[in-house]
Amino acid sequence: MAENRTGDVEAAVREHILLPAQEMAKLGKATQPVLTHAEGIYVFAEGGRRLIDGPAGMWCAQVGYGRKEIVDAIAHQAMVLPYASPWYMATSPAAKLARKIASLTPGDLNRIFFTTGGSTAVDSALRFSEFFNNVLGRPQKKRIIVRYDGYHGSTALTAACTGRTGNWPNFDIHQDRISFLSSPNLRHAGNRSAEQFLDDLVKEFEDQIEALGADTIAAFLAEPILASGGVIIPPKGYHARFKAICERHDILYISDEVVTGFGRCGEWFASEKVFGIVPDIITFAKGVTSGYVPLGGLAISEKVLARISGENAKGSWFTNGYTYSNQPVACAAALANIELMERDGIVDHAREMADYFAAALASLTDLPGVAETRAVGLVGCVQCMLDPTRPDGNDDDKAFTRKIDERCFELGLIVRPLGDLCVISPPLIITRAQIDDMIAIMRQAISEVGAAHG
Ligand code: PLP
Repeated sequence: MAENRTGDVEAAVREHILLPAQEMAKLGKATQPVLTHAEGIYVFAEGGRRLIDGPAGMWCAQVGYGRKEIVDAIAHQAMVLPYASPWYMATSPAAKLARKIASLTPGDLNRIFFTTGGSTAVDSALRFSEFFNNVLGRPQKKRIIVRYDGYHGSTALTAACTGRTGNWPNFDIHQDRISFLSSPNLRHAGNRSAEQFLDDLVKEFEDQIEALGADTIAAFLAEPILASGGVIIPPKGYHARFKAICERHDILYISDEVVTGFGRCGEWFASEKVFGIVPDIITFAKGVTSGYVPLGGLAISEKVLARISGENAKGSWFTNGYTYSNQPVACAAALANIELMERDGIVDHAREMADYFAAALASLTDLPGVAETRAVGLVGCVQCMLDPTRPDGNDDDKAFTRKIDERCFELGLIVRPLGDLCVISPPLIITRAQIDDMIAIMRQAISEVGAAHG
């Protein structure tokens, strides 16, 4: 029976679904593993095979699977009031959630705009930066500065901000108002110290502002850790120095916490507590509902809003919204998720696990084929390279890593394949023993694939 159902699912996917990363030569041919259910940190595939969910879905399943509290909140809200127009009507879940998130964000980031996910959150933050400057009478101040290796989503505007250049071919990327800075990847420092590398990155930003003119730049958009671009952790002090430059030039600092928010880095948000800055805007999604239903949003500084509201509004209307802004079922799910995280101390737990997780990953560096490991909180990676002295992996390294990912899968661990990286960002409820299980599988997979490569 299970086999038949799985076969049916595979056939329907092959025939009818366009995947988010679809190799077009294989349209209608390739299959994906079919999952049937999930519990805790585990997902189950065909025939009941249990797999550790190493990437927590897509960096989102913070509290793990099968959480009755969230499911009950969703069911209750769907029964009593599944929808209300955000343009005309208020509901208790959205109101309570906005107040709750405002209590978790740093500084005065107390005004929340809800969206449908991460891309729409970043898109709305960028559109806000346009609106902000138009109301301030500075229509030329519109440029957005981003980094190579950054990732911010898949709307036309956020895709244009993607510094993962592999995503560019065959799409029309509307980059006339986007400018790129170097990736803050310490592997690119060459023989410079981390301090010198940071000085150079700062100088590049200052030079770019000088060249473009600060009066043309609206926003600097940055992930605290460049997640999809390769779990890149900028040199110490990077964010604070970039924030100071933004302040000097009246450039909005938008911190994209779609991955790092809601406990991923051991704090509710990483910007202030991990990286020491209070940005002007924080975008969030993913962990806000632990992936149970889609929701995203942004938190905006009151000081920023004061410049364009009330007496300063100049008759303006902020007209940017979605049918599913403030969606009551999604907001109820997020509230239940956050309450669960608070009740069970899940963010504290993630912080307590961080050192153990980083050390466990680092223990793999004795294996040939492991160039380095990186981790902050419960997001980390193992960089697998046949020649670890190269700054970045080449196609051979990527093929090598792909084999390691596949072997991990056979051994019971899902790893997010990302070029030459095995990315691990497990559910935040993971225990020390479960971290040991993950690392044992990775050790076996890397050893076996390495041995096969001679
Ligand atoms: N921003 C960051 C940092 C992300 O990693 C992602 C997705 O992975 C997004 C934005 C886009 O979010 P979504 O896929 O929910 O639209």
